[in-house]
Amino acid sequence: MPNIQNPSPPADGYRGRFAPSPTGPLHAGSLVAALGSWLDARKNHGKWLLRMEDLDAPRCIPGADQEILRQLLACGLTWDEEPSWQSKHQERYKQALEHLNELQIIYPCTCSRQGIASALEARGVITPRNQEMIYPGTCRPHQIGTYDELETPSTEVAWRLALPPGLSMHFEDLALGKQTQDLNQEVGDFVLRRRDGIFTYQLAVVVDDAEQGITHIVRGADLLDNTARQIYLQRVLEYETPSYLHLPLVLDGYGEKLSKQTLASAIHTENAQQALQELRKAARHLGLRDLPYGKDASIAEWLLAATQAWDRKIISS
Ligand code: GLU
Ligand code: ZN
Repeated sequence: MPNIQNPSPPADGYRGRFAPSPTGPLHAGSLVAALGSWLDARKNHGKWLLRMEDLDAPRCIPGADQEILRQLLACGLTWDEEPSWQSKHQERYKQALEHLNELQIIYPCTCSRQGIASALEARGVITPRNQEMIYPGTCRPHQIGTYDELETPSTEVAWRLALPPGLSMHFEDLALGKQTQDLNQEVGDFVLRRRDGIFTYQLAVVVDDAEQGITHIVRGADLLDNTARQIYLQRVLEYETPSYLHLPLVLDGYGEKLSKQTLASAIHTENAQQALQELRKAARHLGLRDLPYGKDASIAEWLLAATQAWDRKIISS
């Protein structure tokens, strides 16, 4: 059973990041991820990087990236290096995929969603609503070779990573403790490049976190489920594994995760008072309660107090 040890951070120290998808402006949930990752970086005298995850172009909203930058600045959440846009780094993801092809661990898949659903149904597997289907391996060849057609496939195919058997992954989350996921049983061979040619979040996030030397990933608990996949990809690509810390989710009145899909409303940052109000809400959600309140506290003062008070142990759920 492979056990993943988090390697010690590189000599140049803590490097964190916030990686929003510009599918809309920041809402209460994404501000929690931004603030939590910023505070953890500042507390550890680290750097905080900003990366727009805009590969899924059909889901991105023009101008949302600039709006997110404005909102972060209004909240005093400043970044330390030039922000990056994943859409400008297609070559990186292509190279990683080519490398995995040379390692003979990816294969083309022509299944439609419906095809996968029917194959699962035939095996008596029902996928609950809102849950990803576990790929039953329909297109997986007995022996995987190196494919020449990775570049120009004759038909539109997705590329999947072939998981070895018995892939039970273990890792330690800095907030949630020990985590385990059986990738074969809970995920299956997952997609790295979609049929429409778009590189998936799983591949891009791993390539970029390594490329940017990220040592600490602080993000919402909705992404916890992806972590074992990402650690496995890091391992096959021979990247270092960063530390992970997943923050409690902000739920709406119906107990659903706030997201653009549930029409979560944008945070208000039109003036400093509103921005501070939003920051306070986000901080309370992270377990930071007794921060200075006076009307006169500036955002900078408040952020300083929040940084001093930040403690991974008090993150509430
Ligand atoms: N882009 C992802 C999102 O907005 C977050 C990526 C990450 O933090 O790993 O949900
Ligand atoms: Zn298939």
